[in-house]
Amino acid sequence: MPEGPSIVILREEVAAFTGKAVERAEGNSKLDKSRLVGQTVQSFRSWGKHFLIELDDVSLRIHLLLFGSYRINERKQSSPRLSLGFANGELNFYACSVQFIEGPLDEAYEWSADVMGDAWDSRAVLKKLRARPRLLACDALLDQTLFSGSGNIIKNEVLFRTRIHPLSLIGELPAAKLRELAKEVRVYSFDFLRWKREGKLKANWLAHTKTTCPRCKIPFVKAKSLGRSKRRAFYCERCQKRHGDSEKVSVNAPVAEE
Ligand SMILES: [Zn+2]
Repeated sequence: MPEGPSIVILREEVAAFTGKAVERAEGNSKLDKSRLVGQTVQSFRSWGKHFLIELDDVSLRIHLLLFGSYRINERKQSSPRLSLGFANGELNFYACSVQFIEGPLDEAYEWSADVMGDAWDSRAVLKKLRARPRLLACDALLDQTLFSGSGNIIKNEVLFRTRIHPLSLIGELPAAKLRELAKEVRVYSFDFLRWKREGKLKANWLAHTKTTCPRCKIPFVKAKSLGRSKRRAFYCERCQKRHGDSEKVSVNAPVAEE
């Protein structure tokens, strides 16, 4: 699944269509595509993993889900979910979710939660984290209401960088550690963006898909589905400290006060 930085790259790649009118709208999406024709692209925006096309009187929300993809000025063999034609080229989306958003985008999203956004507010996320003390660290990093744009790669890398065990309880992290966690999600996301542009993202992974801890030179634990989010985790039992006794929290069952 593309994480936030990949959607920022998409936004940059389609910049040539900003200010252009939609001349053709096709695809197997069920939404009323005729409504799009004649509308001008006011802006391309992103909120975490959501790619947003702001038109004259409606916006499009595109989520690439697990297997979605896009092509600019070229086509895949398969049918596009949505194909937008402009005077200067075309934009094609495949296997994704497409929805209309009515009304201003500024009202549709909590922009301070977008990890890569200009409005990112780490104090706001710290407040939300403090209100959920029984949340596991591995689940916090995948919660889009907390860290919009963070995905499984960012989760594994940030927990490794901050030496936090994925089964730590958010409420048991020392205040400075919690601040470090919130800060590092944004720092790593911009590293991700830079490395992805340079084609060096995987080469810079320290934990994600790795078998050995680069700090301790011992095997990583590879968990197939950790936490309530049930996603793959790679971590070191020695240098990633487990804060709090999450043994008592069933990682498979809902946590009581959430
Ligand atoms: Zn280690």
